[in-house]
Amino acid sequence: MTRKICTCFSLMMIFALMIFSTAAAKSKAELTNINAYDVDENNLRIEIEFKGKLNPEDYLLSTKGKFLYVDLNNTAPGRISKIAGKNISDEMVEKISVSEYKPNQTRFVARFSTLINEDDCEISVQPAIKSEKKSARVVIDIPKTIQEDENSAVTLGTKDKVVVIDAGHGGSDKGAVGPSGVTEKSVTLAVALKTEKLLTESGAKVIMTRKTDVDVASPNASDAQELQSRVNKAPPNSDIFISIHCNAFTNPKSNGMETFYFSGSPAGKKLAQFLNEELLKYGGRLNRGVKTANFYVLKRSRCPASLIELAFVTNPEEEKLLADDDYQNKLAQAISTAVNRYFNN
Ligand SMILES: [Zn+2]
Repeated sequence: MTRKICTCFSLMMIFALMIFSTAAAKSKAELTNINAYDVDENNLRIEIEFKGKLNPEDYLLSTKGKFLYVDLNNTAPGRISKIAGKNISDEMVEKISVSEYKPNQTRFVARFSTLINEDDCEISVQPAIKSEKKSARVVIDIPKTIQEDENSAVTLGTKDKVVVIDAGHGGSDKGAVGPSGVTEKSVTLAVALKTEKLLTESGAKVIMTRKTDVDVASPNASDAQELQSRVNKAPPNSDIFISIHCNAFTNPKSNGMETFYFSGSPAGKKLAQFLNEELLKYGGRLNRGVKTANFYVLKRSRCPASLIELAFVTNPEEEKLLADDDYQNKLAQAISTAVNRYFNN
């Protein structure tokens, strides 16, 4: 269950303070006012107004836990620093303060009731509009994020990330087949669908290359056409691509799990490493390691990608596990946990 933070302070000015700036240095913009208000039920806006000219390069936004910091270079806090520490009565903003952090640098700090992520916040600079009597301002837009609580599986870093899950093979292509007839295409689809469910609960936008037992291109397509059509399923804003497979070898004793990435992709490597660690933890099979490979989907993916070999479907013991619903759940949990780690590290 998720709970959205709502405030009834819609479009209400929570905090405003005008000061008389008399001795502003010519080169420094001086803070004159701070507003915080709801743009709509999902978005909070903080405006820091200035007397003087603003340079968009001068402002740096960062977050840590429940705190948001904006370091404003070439500015002076003016008399607004007197309000530092004042409590703000808003469900999301607990406290706002402004102080001279370093010579010529003012630090704005807001403490929120919930964890915030700088990737979700947007900072922009709006010049003064004399005809509207609007002063120059730094604008910070903050989504009223879904709060993490014990009933919520939503993971802040994963929220709204676009994750492409590719269930290897399918349709006319069975993939590898185990000694008792378990097909790779059925295992990869089952694990992919379970992973989709878990990642959706974590807040990700999951794109599946296939959701049923089909060829993604067509039964008559070449291997390259089939694989390219899987790569093409990833929209341009995809964050990661994960291709799920089972291993196979002529020797039925061959066993274990391994993950791959395309060499030269540090993000792909990080993803493959997390997947490897979690699959080892949840799946418990022999770890064959994290490796580089030129697999088509890794090479052609437009975003960081990893290919997983869950285990050997040609190994009788692992074939049995791969077809087992509980074991598939563990594998999906491993992939989902690795993805959450990837977006939160
Ligand atoms: Zn395969």
